[in-house]
Amino acid sequence: MTNHYDTIIIGAGHNGLVAAAYLAKQGKKVLVLERRSIIGGSVVTESFGENFTVDSVQTGGRLRPDIIKDLKLPNTGLDGTSRPPFISLQPDGNHLILNEESIKRFSEKDASCWGEFVRFMDKAASILDAAYATIMPRLPKNLNLRDGYGLLELGLELRLAGRKDMINFIRALPMTVQELVEEYFESEVVRAAITSVAIHGSTLGPMSAGTGYTLIHNWMNRSGLANVNVGKAGEITNALADAVKSYGGEIRTESEVKNIKVENQIAKGVVLSNGEEISANVILSSADPKHTLLKLVGAQDLPPEFVWHTQSIKMRGSVAKIHLQTSGNHGISEGTSVVAPSIKYLERAYDSAKYGEISEKPYLEVTTSDNVVSIHFQFAPYTLKNSDWKTESANVEKLAIDTLAEYFPKLKSSIVNTKIITPKDLKETYGLTEGDINHGQLMLDQFLFMRPIPGWSNHKTPIDNLYLCGSGVHGGGGVSGAAGRNAVKVLK
Ligand SMILES: Cc1cc2nc3c(=O)[nH]c(=O)nc-3n(C[C@H](O)[C@H](O)[C@H](O)COP(=O)(O)OP(=O)(O)OC[C@H]3O[C@@H](n4cnc5c(N)ncnc54)[C@H](O)[C@@H]3O)c2cc1C
Repeated sequence: MTNHYDTIIIGAGHNGLVAAAYLAKQGKKVLVLERRSIIGGSVVTESFGENFTVDSVQTGGRLRPDIIKDLKLPNTGLDGTSRPPFISLQPDGNHLILNEESIKRFSEKDASCWGEFVRFMDKAASILDAAYATIMPRLPKNLNLRDGYGLLELGLELRLAGRKDMINFIRALPMTVQELVEEYFESEVVRAAITSVAIHGSTLGPMSAGTGYTLIHNWMNRSGLANVNVGKAGEITNALADAVKSYGGEIRTESEVKNIKVENQIAKGVVLSNGEEISANVILSSADPKHTLLKLVGAQDLPPEFVWHTQSIKMRGSVAKIHLQTSGNHGISEGTSVVAPSIKYLERAYDSAKYGEISEKPYLEVTTSDNVVSIHFQFAPYTLKNSDWKTESANVEKLAIDTLAEYFPKLKSSIVNTKIITPKDLKETYGLTEGDINHGQLMLDQFLFMRPIPGWSNHKTPIDNLYLCGSGVHGGGGVSGAAGRNAVKVLK
């Protein structure tokens, strides 16, 4: 077997596969190395037993339409054009579906504002999407001509968005999502339902600054409030893997990279856990920045200030997933349902995470796919102050089921089998440092030219020929593939 490649890509999540497919399409000799026995990273559909197949971590997702087109992927709805229902569960059974008609039952005024809110959020998401597609300059280090051109294009895009929307977009980013929704809506039920999407995946509460940004990010990722393509996450990464292979690229699973070989500040290749060495001209890592730089390279080969910045990247996973295999008689409607009765409820759920505790009254987001019910549970911090995940795993599973069963009385009797994925599992099985689902929190100080760290926002690292292409760099998180594609543009 040949052991020299033009490019080695570490990790077969969607970003690694997007980068690999573009490079293979350019005629490069490409090898993707994945530590798990299956590809997909967080965008994966797995089986936990007979009739128990599920999007195990990220629910569904949508890939950028231009990537689908460029790579000639079969687009069976992978760009997520549908808008499934988003339902806020209410204890009295008077559930809110976020559309004008249902909102009217809670407030006539809010129903009349809904259309304008959706219009603004769609516009804001499209502006953010354009920013994510733009390679950021290495501020404050330098601003070269090529970077300047990209920014010019982005500036034009912003200008075309119209002055009012552009200013409202910029204004919304640092706001708390509570303040943002208060400007549109008076009903607490409506407000809380929307704010839950802003805190989804973040260790932040609806009263935290910068949750205006996370709402726009998640709206962009889903093209609305509800998850799209539920049960089809694996189709996205399988289609990408097929594209890599069709362009002549190779993918190897069960191939964990133990370290990146560096000589005189130049990346030369990788060493696998089984001792095998593979050399390459260029290495792209879609593993998170902390793992790539501190574990696979190591502080000894990096400048001290860079190491300090990398160590300081905020990774604060606090998500657990609970999957329930049921008889099918669970009573939960299709779409995305949330337990988010009020903003105070969500903020108190977040308070627990601040103190290293599991929320006793958690925020839940629930999706169904055939007979399987999937529960996204927040907040369940990776680092627990007074306990550990071996002890708490069963408690969190029970708490999730008990909380949801208050709304669906038939749920408990319909359960056949369960599978919980704790933040510890997100690290150990899915390779996410500190269980952080976005490879680094989506916060304004880890945003644009500050992602992953200030001065290194253009996929490069202090090691020549080593680049980053996963969610922890600008363009990530989410399932758009922007981070993977942007990295390839930098290589040209
Ligand atoms: C529970 C959950 C919910 C989410 N919800 C949302 C959401 O609502 N909105 C949103 O925007 N995003 C969400 N995300 C985040 C989104 O799914 C991720 O940002 C995105 O999928 C990451 O893709 P990636 O390709 O960059 O990295 P990953 O999918 O993490 O892929 C990296 C790959 O690298 C492999 N790897 C790591 N180290 C090595 C090594 N040393 N050697 C070989 N291989 C290695 C890993 O096994 C993995 O397969 C969610 C994620 C999770 C887990």
